[in-house]
Amino acid sequence: MPLSKPEGSPESQCNTRVVSGWSGTSHCTGQVVSCFDQDGFLNIFQSGQPWLPRGAGCSYGDAALLSGGTMVLPTFEDRLNSIGKDFQITAPSSITVSELLARLSLIGWTLPVVPGVLGATLGGMLAADIHGKNHFQMGSLGTWVRSLSLMIPSGEVLECAKQNEPEIFRATLGGMGLTGVILSACLEVVPLKGLQAAVNVKATESLRETIQQLESESGKSEYVSAWIDFSKGSVAPGRGVVVCGDRIADEQLKDSGSLWQPETGPSLPPIPGFGNTLVRWHNSVYHGLARWLPQQRLWPLESLLFPLESWGNWRKVYGQRGFYQHQSQIPLSQAEDRIQEIMDLVQASPYRPTLVVLKRMGEGRGGLSFGESGYTLSMDFANESGCRDLLHRLNEFVAEISGKIYLAKDSTLTQEQFEKMYPEVDGFRELRKKVDPRREIQSELSRRLGL
Ligand SMILES: Cc1cc2nc3c(=O)[nH]c(=O)nc-3n(C[C@H](O)[C@H](O)[C@H](O)COP(=O)(O)OP(=O)(O)OC[C@H]3O[C@@H](n4cnc5c(N)ncnc54)[C@H](O)[C@@H]3O)c2cc1C
Repeated sequence: MPLSKPEGSPESQCNTRVVSGWSGTSHCTGQVVSCFDQDGFLNIFQSGQPWLPRGAGCSYGDAALLSGGTMVLPTFEDRLNSIGKDFQITAPSSITVSELLARLSLIGWTLPVVPGVLGATLGGMLAADIHGKNHFQMGSLGTWVRSLSLMIPSGEVLECAKQNEPEIFRATLGGMGLTGVILSACLEVVPLKGLQAAVNVKATESLRETIQQLESESGKSEYVSAWIDFSKGSVAPGRGVVVCGDRIADEQLKDSGSLWQPETGPSLPPIPGFGNTLVRWHNSVYHGLARWLPQQRLWPLESLLFPLESWGNWRKVYGQRGFYQHQSQIPLSQAEDRIQEIMDLVQASPYRPTLVVLKRMGEGRGGLSFGESGYTLSMDFANESGCRDLLHRLNEFVAEISGKIYLAKDSTLTQEQFEKMYPEVDGFRELRKKVDPRREIQSELSRRLGL
């Protein structure tokens, strides 16, 4: 697994610089160091400075940021270390979704769960215990992990699984990098089946109808999500487009694989200004097209799983100030009322989200893991002045209704709100004391939330 070190001792090529969260609203000044093997990590661990594992930096907020310390990038060879006969692989933590999918496709296999981004690393995905558009059926990625190789601050490498170091195993999946560096993971995979999907695109006319569609389709289709029209001046806030898809089996893929390497699309042309008018126009057109075009369609699998990757630099439309994503989990009971109340809070403010997505979620894993039975509502807000006050109010509301905010997207929760949302946090803190007694692992998120 380790890469041979390039000339010039790369671990010493550390540089102190400003690093930003993916959505451009959180920043830190720290060192970023690539580590190619365990000796590299040990050097950092023994430096006496705080440190933090970092993947590809796709978390929106401050989870992968650390000021005044070292962000450690595991950098291993991009290959599968071992492949079992029973749909099981071991892979290095630094491999990206795109590379993993490509390597697995060559043997006719694929990941059971993917996020909407191709650049995320395996280590980053496990640390956030990511979910996909099939959480209601497949759970989070952590559900599929058999074991982890984890390097803790003492320098020891633990092989964790359900039967071995079970507490550390459980806490690491969703533990946002705060239990150590994941070096590699053994996980279950599934047959690729095919590279195309039969997709049903249905326009809805109200929030109630959107939720009804999500509720009924989430039992039937493999992947389901809804885009919600919630722009200023929308005819019916809460109406939307529900997209359901199933992979189409390709007999040829059964016996031999075929390369599937989804890639990020071309950059968007520069867009002058990104005002509400443009968003309203886009939303009306998108909803209108869904109404009038045929509902049944054939899509390349990547269009279903990674719609945002069609454009390379879409986040640039928010300009230098970036944007926030508010991703909450809403408990199942009275979900429609709760989502409506969240929308009412937003409507009472001067701000409107640009992109809103609603998904049905299935059973969760507990701990600091996000996915849990109910709905997840994601709203992207341009970073306008005063917008954080609205986010704070929304966080308060989500805490009150026993929902939670996804840590991989967060940069605005207070410690008090967080503790209400994640009641198992005390257990996590106790475990942290055991694996990291000197609190060497830190992030801006862990400092803000007292983790
Ligand atoms: C466009 C877009 C779409 C997304 N869609 C989804 C989605 O559908 N579902 C979803 O769940 N998430 C989604 N995400 C969030 C993303 O999947 C997570 O933030 C994921 O953690 C990113 O992985 P990364 O390699 O970039 O990790 P980073 O952002 O670099 O780090 C994330 C966390 O993981 C820790 N970490 C990283 N590597 C390691 C390691 N080797 N060992 C231990 N800890 C480590 C870090 O300390 C940090 O706390 C999306 C993000 C983007 C940008």
